[in-house]
Amino acid sequence: MAIFSWFCSLFKPKVGLQSGMAKSGEEKKKMRVVVIGGGVGGSIVAYSLQSVADVVLIDQKEYYDIPWASLRSMVEPSFAERSVINHIDYLPKVQIIASSATNITDREVTTEDGQKVAYDYVVIATGHLESAPKTKAERLNEYKADFEKIKSVNTVLIVGGGPTGVELAGEISFVFPDKKLILVHRGPRLLEYIGSKASQLAMNWLTAKKVDVILDQSINLNHLNGGIVQTSSGETIKADCHFVCTGKPIGSSWLNESILQNSLNIHGKLVVDQNLRIRGHKNIFAVGDITDIKEIKQGYVAQKHAHVTAKNLKLLMNGESESKMATYKPGWEMVIVSLGRKEGVAQFPLITIGGCIPGKIKSEDLFVGRTRKQLGLNPYLDEK
Ligand SMILES: Cc1cc2nc3c(=O)[nH]c(=O)nc-3n(C[C@H](O)[C@H](O)[C@H](O)COP(=O)(O)OP(=O)(O)OC[C@H]3O[C@@H](n4cnc5c(N)ncnc54)[C@H](O)[C@@H]3O)c2cc1C
Repeated sequence: MAIFSWFCSLFKPKVGLQSGMAKSGEEKKKMRVVVIGGGVGGSIVAYSLQSVADVVLIDQKEYYDIPWASLRSMVEPSFAERSVINHIDYLPKVQIIASSATNITDREVTTEDGQKVAYDYVVIATGHLESAPKTKAERLNEYKADFEKIKSVNTVLIVGGGPTGVELAGEISFVFPDKKLILVHRGPRLLEYIGSKASQLAMNWLTAKKVDVILDQSINLNHLNGGIVQTSSGETIKADCHFVCTGKPIGSSWLNESILQNSLNIHGKLVVDQNLRIRGHKNIFAVGDITDIKEIKQGYVAQKHAHVTAKNLKLLMNGESESKMATYKPGWEMVIVSLGRKEGVAQFPLITIGGCIPGKIKSEDLFVGRTRKQLGLNPYLDEK
């Protein structure tokens, strides 16, 4: 029996997917591009290449959850019907593997569910680690549960005063103006990743909405006892529920033992060249928050990286000279933080403003219609 199964195994195809590299004598096949990470950057790369390459998307979940829309979905779960998009809806020509990538060699990518996916080119777009469920239905249920939780309590504690904490406070205070909101932030000002004028404008807005903002203090959530917790300076806070908004770790730990371990800088970011290829690796690109490019990490920047990378991959797959590859240079930076549905804070290169102009640009629809359109989907409906 053992000899029989050994004999059969000789004729089994290799586990996982074979790359589409053209073989002599065979009909010329499309090259295999494996995109790892189906967030802001990865979704655009896969979408842009699906007609010209054999694209495989490896994402830990079956859907793209537009990150800046998730906080609204916690107070209006139906919003997520549009902002959580199954990959298959915009990537009909792509093979989707809903599993985490766990390793990469110079020939293939390994996934948590045991698949080995051979590649000609790889694009790494694993921005930030998430603990998201696998299916859209499960994700929508999570948003409903968050909504029910917020609706049913009197006092909500938000830990962290970066964009997530500030935008969540804005969303809750807009929909539930009578809830008591407490926001505790470790640093001396909110939104420390941008200028102090933006911090002040956000602070003014939140305090006008009666959000209790506590700066320069931290909280050890392990000591949360019956809804009561002490801050680092001994202040006692009582809340019925809390949300931790302290930022997610960079999604590069899976590369620590891989061929790319020496391409990670001390912050766990991938060192890329001006063509967005990982230094020393001619067929591996990286886009988005995981890159070491010195710029404010933003979704629209990840999308720019994605377009440059897709362009370069098309060129290389056409056999054109590397010298023709597009280069990426950080441009002027713009950050908009929404405050509820009508207002926001915007930092442009020469000016920082608050109020309804940033609200009009971002807060009304949170770029959801626009993002859907970029992926060939109807901005307002679930179907194309
Ligand atoms: C509250 C908030 C508001 C924001 N507002 C804006 C805004 O208004 N405008 C703007 O431009 N930007 C905004 N941003 C920033 C923006 O969301 C990020 O810069 C952007 O998501 C980065 O894109 P990315 O493709 O690099 O990574 P992500 O979008 O984080 O995508 C990474 C993907 O990789 C997957 N992944 C991770 N590890 C693995 C693995 N090992 N295997 C397989 N898959 C994996 C994840 O599941 C995820 O799908 C905001 C961010 C936050 C938190």
